[in-house]
Amino acid sequence: MKYDHQIIVVGGGSAGLVVAAGAAGLGADVTLIEREKMGGECLNSGCVPSKSFLRCAHRAAEIRESAGFGIRASFDGVDMEALLGRVGGVIREIEPHDSEERFRGLGVNVIRGEARIVGSHRVRVSEKEMSAKYIVIATGSEAIVPPIKGLSAAPFYTNRNIFSLKKLPADLVVLGGGAIGLELGQGFSHLGSKVTVIDMMERLFARDDREVGPLMEKLMQKEGIQFHLGARIMEVIQKDKSGFVRIEKDKKIAEVPFDAILVALGRKAVTDGLGLAEAGVAVDERGYVKTNLRQQTSVPGIYACGDVCGPYQFTHMAGYQAGIVLRNIIFKYPAKCDYSAVPWVTYTRPEVAHAGYTEEAARSKGFFGESMFCDFSENDRARTEGDLPGFIKIVTDKKGRIIGTTIVGKKAGEIIALSVMAIGRRLKATVFMNMIFPYPTESEIYALSSRNIAKKSLKPWMKKIIRMII
Ligand SMILES: Cc1cc2nc3c(=O)[nH]c(=O)nc-3n(C[C@H](O)[C@H](O)[C@H](O)COP(=O)(O)OP(=O)(O)OC[C@H]3O[C@@H](n4cnc5c(N)ncnc54)[C@H](O)[C@@H]3O)c2cc1C
Repeated sequence: MKYDHQIIVVGGGSAGLVVAAGAAGLGADVTLIEREKMGGECLNSGCVPSKSFLRCAHRAAEIRESAGFGIRASFDGVDMEALLGRVGGVIREIEPHDSEERFRGLGVNVIRGEARIVGSHRVRVSEKEMSAKYIVIATGSEAIVPPIKGLSAAPFYTNRNIFSLKKLPADLVVLGGGAIGLELGQGFSHLGSKVTVIDMMERLFARDDREVGPLMEKLMQKEGIQFHLGARIMEVIQKDKSGFVRIEKDKKIAEVPFDAILVALGRKAVTDGLGLAEAGVAVDERGYVKTNLRQQTSVPGIYACGDVCGPYQFTHMAGYQAGIVLRNIIFKYPAKCDYSAVPWVTYTRPEVAHAGYTEEAARSKGFFGESMFCDFSENDRARTEGDLPGFIKIVTDKKGRIIGTTIVGKKAGEIIALSVMAIGRRLKATVFMNMIFPYPTESEIYALSSRNIAKKSLKPWMKKIIRMII
């Protein structure tokens, strides 16, 4: 059968751009359809603005803490226009990399408009219909805004419009204590907003190791953030420019005042109007596109990658899955996703980084060996920097191989990469013992953990033999 194109990619975000650039680079005839801004959520309303915003906010926190470093400085408030001007400036610096011009230059046929899948090999944009051997769905996700009574009438924000705030909120209520809620909530708190986080979960960082949540809750509480965990959001009541969120916790009703609300209650797949049902593309009970580990959907020839299918909603996972799609489509290689060493970072201060299995997950799967905990108070660089508290926790399987790591520390996101490599290469936890780390660095915490693990695994008879040899 003859098709108009070899590949049609729907969605020009992190996932779609990697498929389009990769396929065009390898000589395929690719069409990319994007209905809004090239670069998707990550560039325009996700990773890039949030991390640029957090840099400003964390700088404010550093200024407030300067007395502890012997520096006299005072925090005189925030110029929101200049702050968000910087955020916009960073987006503009990165934008050309994801631009239509660059992709056209790479040989991709870029079409602006809303795509609808009208058959297993057919896509329609406005009145134009085209066919392709392969279709890749990469339409991403968006914030869930639940039908909470009174919410729609209140001045609420999501990640889509929070970076265009005109002034710093005095009382910011964050609905949802997940990564987005905590990163941005802490950022606003550092800038001077009074921040309250409300979540129905009893513990923060529920997807990370158990030790993380209570520590981070305590740290953020100390900074002034108020938490209502295990609470049910009942109603939002708006009065002029402010109001309050009514919640229920332990059968008691409480009212939390706000002048702005950030809704960070989770994400949902963007599939409305995409024609999935008519095309026969199966979705799960939460509306995410179902794929196998080769990223194939239920319809032969239609693939999906990124947030629209999950199970991990990160830019690096969108890129990883896009690579799997490319290997399957172009090289006909039955490559499969391997999720055993997936890293993620929550960019709070300190950062929380994780890779692989948590202790809980390893235990439930039956391959937990042991876990080793090492505090950053034992690391000289963390002490010189004042980067405390923090810790590393390494989880091994029964053969002593690293299968998971959690790090809480100011540079946790940078040093987790060593664990990603160790897990991927099935290395033993003692591997860092003989590696030379520059002194003083926070990555030395790995060497210390390795030594502790080696010491712990020495049996009394081994120690006896060592004594005899010496
Ligand atoms: C506040 C925030 C902070 C984040 N921070 C991080 C972080 O620090 N690190 C990290 O790894 N991840 C982070 N993420 C997650 C990250 O942004 C996503 O995982 C990533 O953007 C997913 O890429 P994607 O290509 O799947 O989807 P998207 O980036 O959402 O791209 C999908 C694209 O498809 C287009 N589209 C949708 N439907 C159609 C249609 N019918 N026709 C044509 N085009 C269509 C959309 O307009 C969009 O451009 C963050 C997310 C948020 C919200």
